[in-house]
Formats: sequence, structure tokens, C-alpha cells
Amino acid sequence: MPKKYHVNVQNTPLDFGYLYKFRIIRGENCINCGKCTKVCIYEAHQRSEKDPRIMADPNTEVCRNCFRCIQECPRGALEKSLFSEFTNSGGEYWTPDVLLTLWKQAETGSVPVSGAGYRGPFTGKGFDSMWTDMSEIVRPTRDGIHGREYISTSVDLGRKLSHLAFKSENNLVSKLENLVTLSVPVVFDISEYNLAAEVKEAIVKAAIELDTCVIIPVDEVIKDFEKYIKNIIPRMSFAEIDNNVEIIKQTRLVSVDYSEDITGDFSSVKEKISKLGDIVTIVRVPAVNTVSDIVSKLAANGAEVIHVVADYRGSGICDSTGSDGRYIKDIIRDVHAELLNNKIRDEVTIMTSGGIALAEHVAKAMLCGADLTGIDIPLLIALGARIYEGSENSLVMPQELDKIPLSTAMQRIVNLIGTWHSQILEVMGAMGIRDIRRLRGETGRAMFFEEIDKETFGKIFNRNKQ
Ligand code: SF4
Ligand code: SF4
Repeated sequence: MPKKYHVNVQNTPLDFGYLYKFRIIRGENCINCGKCTKVCIYEAHQRSEKDPRIMADPNTEVCRNCFRCIQECPRGALEKSLFSEFTNSGGEYWTPDVLLTLWKQAETGSVPVSGAGYRGPFTGKGFDSMWTDMSEIVRPTRDGIHGREYISTSVDLGRKLSHLAFKSENNLVSKLENLVTLSVPVVFDISEYNLAAEVKEAIVKAAIELDTCVIIPVDEVIKDFEKYIKNIIPRMSFAEIDNNVEIIKQTRLVSVDYSEDITGDFSSVKEKISKLGDIVTIVRVPAVNTVSDIVSKLAANGAEVIHVVADYRGSGICDSTGSDGRYIKDIIRDVHAELLNNKIRDEVTIMTSGGIALAEHVAKAMLCGADLTGIDIPLLIALGARIYEGSENSLVMPQELDKIPLSTAMQRIVNLIGTWHSQILEVMGAMGIRDIRRLRGETGRAMFFEEIDKETFGKIFNRNKQ
């Protein structure tokens, strides 16, 4: 039996702080009774080390927002308020809560306790308008979550055959295509970010530990990275292939930017790459309005893996035709449906990235039709980056980034993906699915707010005619 996939997480704090949501303030009417030290299981309240007769300032960093100390203080001396630094971070998509969640996941390798529960709306934009089916939640399939049954999260990248052809019995004539199998349905994509070589190295080493790969621009694949080359996907344009054959020869996967030339003539790209070894080519396509047509043509012309890339908030990319304002969830559903209509869906691998901010987004993107996802910004948040949404993505890396030891940076990324892996197992276990490949395109396992809204209120408000 093959070794079960397991992520080794361990608590890995950094020497500098991040965002904190609440500030707890102890008022002057505190009588130092010490009751709050007993009720807070996270030890946010302690007596002063210098003078145990009085209370020390509350330790806001460990507070999990349960409100118990505030409710139980006999003098009503405790008060909680939001940090303005917290509320001013992020934006509508990368909310401050998302940033803090990712940071804590990277620190502890476990899903953070939120204490007061979820009090927000139950629908929203993008992936937030989608709910997953948890109908199997009380059934024995949950055994998988606790390790009694194995749930596989492995995915395959490459072209698959629609059928096998035999000349005679036991005489296979079909040529089997190259496939690369990864143990998790995520690939790291840092090709859009200008990172120091040490940070890239930490991310690559985490990818090796997790049995996945990292997309890096080919001109950033320096000599020192050659030892990691099997887990690096060099990204390049079609024109750059000839100048980088020595790097390509050593890899398992290569990412080539989409251009109109290669849509109709993908066979010449494939021929060029296949001469260099058993290498799978990923074509990177921006999620423009016409992306479904582009993907269909590429698939029909033999593309192996097609990577559909949305912007950092999961919206379609604006080109000369503008943007129709769709989110990646809807774009991938259309791409998947188009390939199904063309009876070619099972032959090609679809990867998507842009706006994958949480573990649930991985599962939801797959339910919409992706085989796997690429992640970018969460890796940087794990290392202390903050994002401020505006017209442009403004990512602020911490000043102390260079001082983070390589092993610490690597472990924090392993922790982040370990947490996501646990959450994906939870989703799959609750659905009764034991192989993540079966999640792809299973829209019957999901509910979409837009569809329910139309079904429920469409007749009343005449929306069915739209
Ligand atoms: S429970 Fe209230 S009064 Fe007692 S020590 Fe804590 S803050 Fe002060
Ligand atoms: S709100 Fe809860 S977690 Fe936070 S300090 Fe009070 S008791 Fe502790």
C-alpha cells in the first residue's frame, strides 16, 4: 500500500507581530479580583509579574474573541474595541479577517478558533455565493477525516486518453501521454511577484515537502535552484523556449504564456517541448471574456494542461473587449460546460488561479470544474505580507522578511497548506467523497445563490424572462 499523504505541521511563530482584530482594555474600576484569569482559557489575563496584587495589561494577541471575560467581570471593567489598523487593511475581497486567518493558519498549522462564531451574511460575491453540500456529515464517511479511511487529494496534470485502442487482444496501440501526479490540488504561482531569491527558495522547499510545484519565471530559475528543478515550473513565452532548452530538459512541467499563434498551432509547441523530454506543457491563459473559446480551441488542438488566470480578486481580466465582470467561479463553470459540450473535458487538465484566498475556494473552484488551483497571495501573507485593495493590488511585504530563517519561512507555508489540506478533507468527508478527482465539476454537490434566487423569486419578479 502506498504511503499515506501526511503534512507535518508545527507551531512556527515569527519574531514580529501581525494584525490584531480587537484590543481589550481594562478600566480603572477593576478591583484586581482575578476572575478574568480563571475564565480566559487562552491566558490573555495575567497578574503583574512585578506586583501580583494587580493585573497586567491584557495580552490581546492571544484573545480569541469569546467575550467570556467581559461577561463575567463583576465590575464591567473590561472593554473590547476594533483596531483601526485591522479595519483599514485588506479590502472587500481580501478582508482583514481573511488576512488574519491565513496568518494564524501559517503560524499554528491548525484552523483558528473564532470564538464568537460567524455573524456575517450567508451570501456575497464570487465564491461566497456558493454553498457546498454537507449532507453526509453524520455518516461513517467522516472516518476519512480522522484517518480511519484514506481520502486522496492527489491530482494528475496532463493529457488523458478518451479510450484505449487495441490492435488485437492484449496489444495496446494507444500511446499513453505523460502525466504528473501531485499530492495536493494546489500549485504555487509566484511568477507575478518580485521576491528575493531566499524567499523563493523557502517556497520551493515547502513545495518539495508538500509534493507540489512552484511556477517561477524562467529567467529567475538561477543556478542554485537547479537541485530543486523537478518541483519548479519555469514560465516563459513561446519565443523563449529555444533559449531555455537546458532548463526545460530537467523539468517535469513547463508553463507557456498564451498567444494567438499557439492556439491554432499547439502541436508545434508540443513537438518542440516533447523533443526535450517527458515534459507536460501548461498553457497560461488570462480569464478574458473569450476564455471559453480559447480553451476549447487549445483543447481541440491537443493542449495538455490549460491554466486560466483571473485577477487577484478572482475577477475576469479586462482586455481590448473589456470585462463582463464575471468571477472565476462563473468563468470556470462556463469553461467546463464548453468542454463537456465538445466531449473533450476528460482529456484535458484545467487549472485556475486568481482570488484563491481560502481552502474552501480550492474545493469550490474544483466543484465548478477545475482539476486543481494555483495559489499566490496566501503564501506571502503566511510570511507577513499585507494587502491593501485599491485599483491596483498593493502588497506590502514586512521589513523583517529578509531576517526570517529559511526553515521558518518554509514551515509556515507547509503549515498553511497543511491547514488547507485538513479543511479540504473535512469538506470531502462531509460530502462522502474519498478521491478529490471526483470533486471536479460536481455542481450537483453545490448550491448557487444566483440560481436559487432566480428559481424562488424569478416568477414573481419576472426574472426568468431575462
Ligand atoms: S474580572 Fe474584572 S475586576 Fe476582576 S480582575 Fe478581571 S478585569 Fe478586574
Ligand atoms: S474575550 Fe475570551 S479569549 Fe478574549 S480575553 Fe476574554 S475570555 Fe480570553
